[in-house]
Amino acid sequence: MVPSATPEERSQKERERKAATVMMVVFFIIGLSVVLSYDWRSPTPAFRPDAGTVILFGILVAAIIYIAARYAGQDDWQSRFRLRFCPNCGRQIRFDATVCPYCNHGLP
Ligand SMILES: [Zn+2]
Repeated sequence: MVPSATPEERSQKERERKAATVMMVVFFIIGLSVVLSYDWRSPTPAFRPDAGTVILFGILVAAIIYIAARYAGQDDWQSRFRLRFCPNCGRQIRFDATVCPYCNHGLP
């Protein structure tokens, strides 16, 4: 294990990585809605008549994913579902901790 990385730093990095993935998905969906709203069969470059609806729908879906991901990553959600107890000292520790922050007991 890396001695300099505390569990807090690791969870922070994990959150940042998750946020980056969510933003990538959001932009992909908005981009996809723009591509889908384009009329590719038209001889002249043009958007479909319902382009506004398709793009709006894409932005709506992206917004729902973004909001859902935000709420899923909140700390109260983590404290409720992502904690377990140290087998050595019995204190509450993070679900993905590799070592107990209180007694330094190694965890499987
Ligand atoms: Zn412990």
